[in-house]
Amino acid sequence: MSLITEITAATDRYNLHSHTQFCDGHAPMETMARAASDCGMLHYGFSPHSPICVESGANMSHENVNAYLDEVNRLKSLPVELPQLYAAMEIDFISVDFGPHIDMFQRMPLDYRIGSVHFVPNQDGISVDCDGSADRFLRYLKDAFGGDLRYVVEKYFEQVLTMLERGGFDMLGHFDKIAQNASVADPEIENQPWYEALIDDVASHAKTAGVVVEINTKYINDKGRFFPHDRWWQKLKDAEMPIAVNSDAHWPEKVDEGRRQAFEKLRQTGLHHNAADVNGQSH
Ligand SMILES: [Zn+2]
Ligand SMILES: [Zn+2]
Repeated sequence: MSLITEITAATDRYNLHSHTQFCDGHAPMETMARAASDCGMLHYGFSPHSPICVESGANMSHENVNAYLDEVNRLKSLPVELPQLYAAMEIDFISVDFGPHIDMFQRMPLDYRIGSVHFVPNQDGISVDCDGSADRFLRYLKDAFGGDLRYVVEKYFEQVLTMLERGGFDMLGHFDKIAQNASVADPEIENQPWYEALIDDVASHAKTAGVVVEINTKYINDKGRFFPHDRWWQKLKDAEMPIAVNSDAHWPEKVDEGRRQAFEKLRQTGLHHNAADVNGQSH
C-alpha cells in the first residue's frame, strides 16, 4: 500500500491537495493547517504548484522549494494539535522534457507527488494555460488555438496520457479539468463519443500506471461539477481504481469544500468503502 491508499483506507478525514502562500493560495501554511484541524482532519497534504519551465503567476519559484519544505517541518514540530502533515507538490506536466518524471522532481524529498495538466501546447507548440476563468479560456481558444476546441481538448488529454506513461507521480490530479472551460465553449462536448473515448483512455492508462485518481471537489458548489465529473465514476469503479477525495483548497474556509457531497455520491456509486464506513465513524 502507498502512503495515500493507507490514508484513504483508514479514514475520510483527510485532504491531500491544497495551496498556500507559496503559490497561488491565499493563506499561510499554518493557517491552512489550523483550518484543517478545526474541520477534524487527521491528514493534510500541502501541494504547491511546482516550479515550472514556462511563465506562470500561479506556480512556486524554484528558489522557494527549500523554504517550503522547511515550513512543513516547522509546522510538524509545533506544540499544537495539527493533522499529520505532508510535503507534496502538484507538478505540472508541460512536455516529455518537463513533468513529474524529471530528475529535478524525483530528487525532491516529497512525501508524494500529484501530476496535473493545466497547460496545453497550441498548434505552434506554445504552452497555453487552459485553467483559470472561462473568459480567459475563450479568449485563448480564439487567439492561440484558432478556435479549434476539439484540438485543445484532445491535446489536453494527450498531455494527461503522456504524463501517465512517463510516470513519476502518485496521484492523478483533476484529470478532466479541461471540461470546465471546454463545456462553456460547447455544452454538448462531454456527450460526444470521441470525448468519452478519451476518458476511457485515461482510465486504462491510470490503471496501468498504478496511480491514485483524485476526485477534486473544489468547484462542486460554485460550478456544480467534480473533476472527474461524476458521470465517469462508474468507469473508475469498473477499473477498480484507487481514489482520493481532495478539496484543492486555496482558502482556509475551503479546506473541506465539497468533500462530503463527494463521499455521499461515491457511496451511491458503490465506489467508496473504508474503515470509517465499517466503524460508522465517517464524519
Ligand atoms: Zn490543478
Ligand atoms: Zn491544485
